[in-house]
Amino acid sequence: MHTTSAAPVAPASAFGPPFPWVFVDGEWVDADDARVSVHANAVSYGTGTFEGIRATWSPEREELYLMAATAHYRRLHRSARVLGLQVPLTPEELTATTAELLRRNEVRADAYLRPLYILTGEDIPVRMHGIPTRLSIAAWPVVGHMIDPRGIRATISARRRAPDVAVPSRAKLCGGYIGPAIAKTEAAAAGYDEALMLNVDGGVAEATTSNVFMRRGDEWVTPAVTEDILEGITRDQVMTLLAERTGRRPTERRIQPSELLLCDELLLCGTAALIVPVVEVDGRRIGDGRPGAATSTLLEDLRAIARRAGDRHAEWTSPVYTSEEGEA
Ligand code: PMP
Repeated sequence: MHTTSAAPVAPASAFGPPFPWVFVDGEWVDADDARVSVHANAVSYGTGTFEGIRATWSPEREELYLMAATAHYRRLHRSARVLGLQVPLTPEELTATTAELLRRNEVRADAYLRPLYILTGEDIPVRMHGIPTRLSIAAWPVVGHMIDPRGIRATISARRRAPDVAVPSRAKLCGGYIGPAIAKTEAAAAGYDEALMLNVDGGVAEATTSNVFMRRGDEWVTPAVTEDILEGITRDQVMTLLAERTGRRPTERRIQPSELLLCDELLLCGTAALIVPVVEVDGRRIGDGRPGAATSTLLEDLRAIARRAGDRHAEWTSPVYTSEEGEA
């Protein structure tokens, strides 16, 4: 077996080996048997859609909580609809199946889940229709930290986020990650932690796997959903939390690249890392070069909500081991 040999050294993975049980098309399969063939259509063409969901263990409550699982599965349905596919289980059924997967694997620690709905038929032609699909959900333990608490250094990538007219932006599509993957490696080769991607019109779109928020004075701003971004679930949560803290909903509009150099706080948000402070863009300091106070508060808030510390936004999480009314 060969691994990629790009110049930058790969960082230590934040994930351990997958948990032994995997859900595949209604059956419980051993992780070693949950394989697709090299002949699968999705392997060549990236024809499929996926999600990333977090589960957070609460030592206080001795309970594992899924974060916004049904919202993620609604997005999986929307992504599939964009591809002309229909996911065979409802979002609510998928959330219940995910809880069962975690119980079967006896997960009592932070975990990351990967639902995948891909064309596994062994058809050579490039198309979406008439090719057998497979729906799977796998889980990994989260063993490391995904964020450097001192904040990260980003570069504005020369590689643009694919426009919606080429690859539908708001759908989370397997093949859509090739541009971000190259951008990430190019950024790492140049000594940066992350790449910020502009859209083809020159507006800031997002980072490789997270959405962007900036603060200029009293105003929080995030690229509008028409700027070729993925409509992030964490983005929605950050909008709500910022509105609650500041009394004003963040503005959704185009962000020009020079605004990144002038802003007071800059953060990335996504399921895996929750909130990532950006302290430098292309060698220029953001604010005073340290994570902003509001950014740190947001991270603390989301970490607490994810493990149900207190009742704030308890509706965003659902317990795995005890039954309760499902998340809204
Ligand atoms: N943008 C992209 C391209 C992503 O892959 C992700 C991660 N799913 C996000 C934004 C953040 O989305 P979410 O908060 O739903 O994880």
